Formats: sequence, C-alpha cells, structure tokens
Amino acid sequence: MDKNIQNLIGKAAQAIRGAQRVTAFSGAGISVESNIPPFRGKNGLWNKYDPKFLEINYFMLHPKESWELIKEIIYDFFGKAKPNSAHYALALMEKKGFLQAVITQNIDNLHQEAGSENVYEFHGTSQKLVCLDCGRSYLINDMSLEKLPLLCSKCGGLIKPDFIFFGEPIPEPAASRSFMEAELSDVFIVIGSTGEVAPASQIPHLAKNNGALIIEINTEESGFTHSITDIFLKGKATEMMTALVKELKL
Ligand code: NAD
Ligand code: ZN
Repeated sequence: MDKNIQNLIGKAAQAIRGAQRVTAFSGAGISVESNIPPFRGKNGLWNKYDPKFLEINYFMLHPKESWELIKEIIYDFFGKAKPNSAHYALALMEKKGFLQAVITQNIDNLHQEAGSENVYEFHGTSQKLVCLDCGRSYLINDMSLEKLPLLCSKCGGLIKPDFIFFGEPIPEPAASRSFMEAELSDVFIVIGSTGEVAPASQIPHLAKNNGALIIEINTEESGFTHSITDIFLKGKATEMMTALVKELKL
C-alpha cells in the first residue's frame, strides 16, 4: 500500500482509538465490491434504467410495470449479493467496541448479514414490504414474486417494498436516530457516498458541525472530500477497511 495512505490509516486508527463514539455512514459504494452497482456514476444503474419506476406516484399508477423492474433489479439481482470484507470489518469494529453505529443509505441488508447490530437504515430496507392501504407488513422471504404486482392478502391493497421511493419521507425512527448519532459522534467514517443524495448527505455535515473528525473512504472524490473530510482514504472500501482493522489490531 502507498506510504501516504498507510500514514493516513495510522492517523485514522489513532483517532478511532481515542474516540468515545464512532459512527460509520455508508452509501452504495460499500456494496459495489459485492457486485451491486451504484445508481450514479459511470457504471450506475441510471445509465441503463429510467428512475421513474421508483417514483411513488408512478408506482401507484403503473404498479405492474414498476414491480417487474423492482423484481429484476432489486430482488433477482441485489438479492444474490453477499457482504464483503468492508461490511465484515465494520461488524468486527462494533463487536470489539470501536464502533457504536452504522447509518446506511443502502437497502441491501448486507451490514446486518455481516453481523452489524446497531444499523439505522435511512432509506428503509428491501427485506420488508408494506401494504399501502392497511399498513400490513410482510417479509420478502415469505413472498412469491411470480405474480405481479403484489397485493395484500388482508385487504387487496397494493404492496410496496419498504425502502423509500422518490417523493417519500425518510422513515422513523431511523431518521431521528441517525441525526442523533451524528450529533453525538466524535469520529464519523463516511464510506462510498457521493454526498449528492439529500437529506442523507446532511448527516456527515451535522457530525462535522458538532465537532466530529471526518474520515472518508471512496475511490473518487465526493461532495464531502473538499468540504468536511479531515482524513481522505482514497481507495476501495474493502482495502481501506481491511487496512484500518489491521491497524487497530482487531
Ligand atoms: P452514492 O451516493 O451511494 O455513491 C456511490 C459512491 O461510491 C460514489 O461516490 C463512488 O465513487 C463510490 N464508490 C464506488 N465504488 C467504490 C468502492 N469500491 N469503494 C468505495 N467507494 C466506492 O450514490 P448512488 O449509487 O447514486 O446511490 C444513491 C442512493 O441509492 C443511495 O444512497 C442508496 O439509498 C441507494 N442505493 C442503494 C444501493 C444498495 O443498497 N446497495 C445501491 C445503489 C443505490
Ligand atoms: Zn392491506
């Protein structure tokens, strides 16, 4: 590894060791090495698909068309992904007391699969579904996606995945807990996030404004890099997180 990066990893580890509360904040970038493409950027899904099928109003007017794309993109494809070493490194840090929470924008459940326990899913989850009419909740593992759109067995209403669509509010209590963690943290690790998706992008700024040191891991510079990042670890999430837990001697 590059001497400069190794030096920065040493500084990051030192800050983490000296901190009372450390929080990680992950975006689509942490799951890229689990073969889940991001939405934005050169290999982003929005180059291939029109994001309108994830707009709440479009979904309600065209549930069959939207559901077929959701099945293809989110469930058939994301569904096969496994956690990578960056997800496992965060779970290990939590277990050893070096990390208090993970705030994720991802809906792929990979932090939980890797063993992270205190996870706030800012954009919801693909693992649960909800009836838009009566609010009944379903688990994806109990459902067949053969016949679409999915309809509620209790009231016949339209069932929607329990992650947020464009035009929907951030779910509670994930929203308020994420903002609270950001305020309390003294080290905040931003991993694989462009900083372009609001209001999630405000969370690292809130942490910084409340005195946190910002460590950022990304293969590219992001909206955070030149505004709030204190230690920029330019590289892949798996490589940087593996080096960090090694430096922490976990
Ligand atoms: P994003 O803000 O999540 O950005 C992805 C970032 O990851 C980019 O800055 C990119 O440079 C970086 N990156 C790419 N490969 C990386 C690697 N190997 N290591 C570290 N960083 C890497 O942007 P988005 O993809 O447009 O996502 C927007 C929102 O959509 C997310 O916040 C999330 O809610 C959702 N989303 C979720 C998933 C998922 O659940 N895995 C996938 C795509 C999008
Ligand atoms: Zn219902």
